[in-house]
Amino acid sequence: MLDTRELGRRPGSQRRMSFEAPAPADLGIEVLRVPEGSSIRFELRLEAVMEGVLVTGTAEADLEGECARCLDDIHDHVVADFQELFVYEEREPAGDPDQEDDEASRLEGDLLDLEPLLRDSVVLTLPFQPLCRDDCPGLCTECGARLADDPGHQHDAAVDPRWAKLEGLTQQVGRQQDD
Ligand SMILES: [Zn+2]
Ligand SMILES: [Zn+2]
Repeated sequence: MLDTRELGRRPGSQRRMSFEAPAPADLGIEVLRVPEGSSIRFELRLEAVMEGVLVTGTAEADLEGECARCLDDIHDHVVADFQELFVYEEREPAGDPDQEDDEASRLEGDLLDLEPLLRDSVVLTLPFQPLCRDDCPGLCTECGARLADDPGHQHDAAVDPRWAKLEGLTQQVGRQQDD
């Protein structure tokens, strides 16, 4: 919640703010999200207009997720831009008063709830399928090896599922010996 009292309600008055706030839970998408409680950096410009307060700004946050192709961890960050008009509470919506405009964001007294705006803009900014890198080759469809670790990786012939199990075992033994 952001207090707009200092801005006043005279159209044209402006105020810039920058601050940090902890991330709410479940910000982002399932495969890529802002860790709960991590710091979000806001840069905002509040502008009083006739109908309410126009909020323009950016939110910058760290991201954690998994690559959609190779399932590797992704550590990234997001800069989400947004602009939204928060209408003064006591103003009647234009037109039919019975028809509530559910789309409009509203001030609650002098307070402005940034969270829905933050959620929408972050989700819109995130890639649909996050990748560890643009050309991530993903996993081998036959054995599940990470192709990025092994660019020349190939199989001579289709692996018999019974042998694939054995192969997995020898790989594990090999790894243990490496330790
Ligand atoms: Zn990847
Ligand atoms: Zn393979």
